[in-house]
Amino acid sequence: MKKLFLKLIQSIMDKLTQIEHAHQMRPGVMMPNAASMPFFDFISHGGMKKSPSGFKSKLKFIGVLLPTMANSLRGNFKSNLSVKRNPTHPKTRASQDFIEEIKQFALQRGACMVGFTKLEPQYIFDHTAILHENAIVLAQEMDEDKIDLAPHFETELMVHKVYRELGEIANDMADFLRDKGFGAQSSVALRGTTVLPIMAQKANLGMVGRNGLLLTERFGARIRLAAVYTSIDNLPFADSENNPNKWIRDYCDMCGICVRKCPPKALYEKPIKRPGGETYVDNNKCFPYFHENSGCAVCIKVCPFSKPGFKVNKEAMYEILNNK
Ligand code: SF4
Ligand code: SF4
Repeated sequence: MKKLFLKLIQSIMDKLTQIEHAHQMRPGVMMPNAASMPFFDFISHGGMKKSPSGFKSKLKFIGVLLPTMANSLRGNFKSNLSVKRNPTHPKTRASQDFIEEIKQFALQRGACMVGFTKLEPQYIFDHTAILHENAIVLAQEMDEDKIDLAPHFETELMVHKVYRELGEIANDMADFLRDKGFGAQSSVALRGTTVLPIMAQKANLGMVGRNGLLLTERFGARIRLAAVYTSIDNLPFADSENNPNKWIRDYCDMCGICVRKCPPKALYEKPIKRPGGETYVDNNKCFPYFHENSGCAVCIKVCPFSKPGFKVNKEAMYEILNNK
């Protein structure tokens, strides 16, 4: 029965990959390049092989987690198939009022942060393509109490609920933009098509930390990310050279708690350089632990920025750094 179920999931994933791959045939799309990351297929990396122990958790696994994941996957199909509804000649300029409306659209539906940046080819996963370079990046907060339990089945349930909800916000926003005459393509939170932490950093929402996740001043790493790519080319794109969050990374470089607390020691002391970027996590160590332990999330839990009210005295921090 379990083997049959995993086979079914794998065939759904394969179908999705085919649809994503077909975007590369569309005229005028932005293609990945030689520095793009290979696509991460969580099923072939051991995802879904383990269900929780205990009668109550098993019931929640079947009754809550699987339907939530099914809805997220439905969101992936919607994200990919709905691009067919894009206008043939999409508008490219939006009024300032409409741009404000886009932000409010996301915030009123549950996003906690919205930013704007331009996509670069190396941030597109190598199996797909993106229709527009103009990115609206969305973040949604994850529940602090549930993160504090990590690694725990309740944490995993909450994470998947956020994946589903944020995916719906991104898909709804894409529909909203199409209705107003703009082109749009969503990259949803679960199994996205682009490297979202870097996109969010470029949108000045935070900085990528030593755990490989986006760290924000207000929510730490306790967020999930999604994006909507659009034909609107006059969005207020962030000046990423002057990211006001750079100090977060300076703190991070001093800290290293996540590196020390990662149970299978999967975080590199110093990120590994690779063409087009850096790698923070040794996936060969992270994935097995992640899949055996309800999606882990220890590196989110232990990060001091993830605790509400965490404040850094920046002047004192820089004094320590300068005296080193
Ligand atoms: S998810 Fe867990 S195993 Fe993976 S890097 Fe974070 S703490 Fe380590
Ligand atoms: S735990 Fe420390 S080193 Fe790790 S991401 Fe958070 S601030 Fe950075």
